[in-house]
Amino acid sequence: MEGKTNPAAEPFAILRRRIYLAFCLMGLTASTTGFIYALLSNEADFFRQVLSYLIIGMFGLMSLLAGWKRLSLARLEQTLFGTIVSLSLLTLVYVLYREYPKPSSFDVLLSLLLWFPGVYVMIFFVFKAQRAVVLGSSLLLAFIALSLPHALRTTIRQNVFDGITPFLQIYLSHVFIILALYGFAVFRAHALKQEQEAQAFRELASTDMLTGLSNRRHMTDLLELEFKRAERYDHPFSIILLDIDRFKFVNDVYGHDVGDEVLVDLAHLLQSSLRGSDLAARWGGEEFLVLLPETSNSNALIVAENLRKQVAMHLTYRGNHSSISSGVASYHPNDSLKSLVKRADDALYKAKAQGRNCVVNEKLETLINESPVEPA
Ligand code: GH3
Ligand code: MG
Ligand code: MG
Repeated sequence: MEGKTNPAAEPFAILRRRIYLAFCLMGLTASTTGFIYALLSNEADFFRQVLSYLIIGMFGLMSLLAGWKRLSLARLEQTLFGTIVSLSLLTLVYVLYREYPKPSSFDVLLSLLLWFPGVYVMIFFVFKAQRAVVLGSSLLLAFIALSLPHALRTTIRQNVFDGITPFLQIYLSHVFIILALYGFAVFRAHALKQEQEAQAFRELASTDMLTGLSNRRHMTDLLELEFKRAERYDHPFSIILLDIDRFKFVNDVYGHDVGDEVLVDLAHLLQSSLRGSDLAARWGGEEFLVLLPETSNSNALIVAENLRKQVAMHLTYRGNHSSISSGVASYHPNDSLKSLVKRADDALYKAKAQGRNCVVNEKLETLINESPVEPA
């Protein structure tokens, strides 16, 4: 059932559950008031009473199930669909054939016919457009088949629901309702597909294809946003610009594919080593930029040194260890994106000149390399 339900409605799971709950509560109210009315006007024979208790009981149970969060939405919809369809068919048979050929209770038939469109709506809620139109039409055909003997036998009209005409009117309106719902469902599926494509396109435009990290364009947007926040709220933030040491050697000796693997592994390592609020992006080639919101310069140096150690220990290829060099810079009042990145870049340049596999701050001071691991 899970696979057959409408994935288009998945983001609205809570809303759907509430709508089902409202539907069941309204069904409960309508069936209870109808039954009380029938009791008061002495129209409730034994079968009517049994049927009413059944309907009221089912709507009560369905209301409880709809409000029961532990029941999966798919299972709820399956139960709701089965129950409501069975009750609709059962009630129709009862009303039309209980005292055949004269229908026993017109008010029940009337309320039933009024509620049928709600059943179609529910089917389109639960199933995808194509499946819903098949199920809705099948249900309509079942209604027609069940009504036909009564309509054909009561050609001399004595009551409102005698003869073909009233059923023709009602069921033709059902055809229109099903078609309209199908139109809306197709339109909704189309709109959702477009939205998903647009979302995929947005992600593609902001993601680096090789590593899956944010690309330079996305990181630039994020940095600009971070600048605005820092300026307005006087919050600190820092960046780490890091570059793989002697990466050309990896490509030259082991080939471009191995180089690519190292880039992907480094991306994973960065992601697993950073806090959820920090963000790493591929800034270009084998250079990465890490944004550390709410982080002072001294804390950023700790993060950078931790990353350096993680890489020196875990980033390997063909039995060799890789290493990175990093430049750390932090936001200053009246800073610009360009000047901030320039300070990090200068620090990175110093780290390379210093012998690599180390961290340099924006004052161009090198952090003591506590656990040097020789790069390949
Ligand atoms: P340094 O320690 O000074 O950073 O030396 P390096 O060899 O890492 O630096 P250099 O700038 O000379 O070389 C960077 C290399 O990164 C050159 C380029 O071919 C490689 N590179 C850039 N992008 C990719 C990529 O997407 N995949 C692979 N495999 N290599 C890449
Ligand atoms: Mg390099
Ligand atoms: Mg480089």
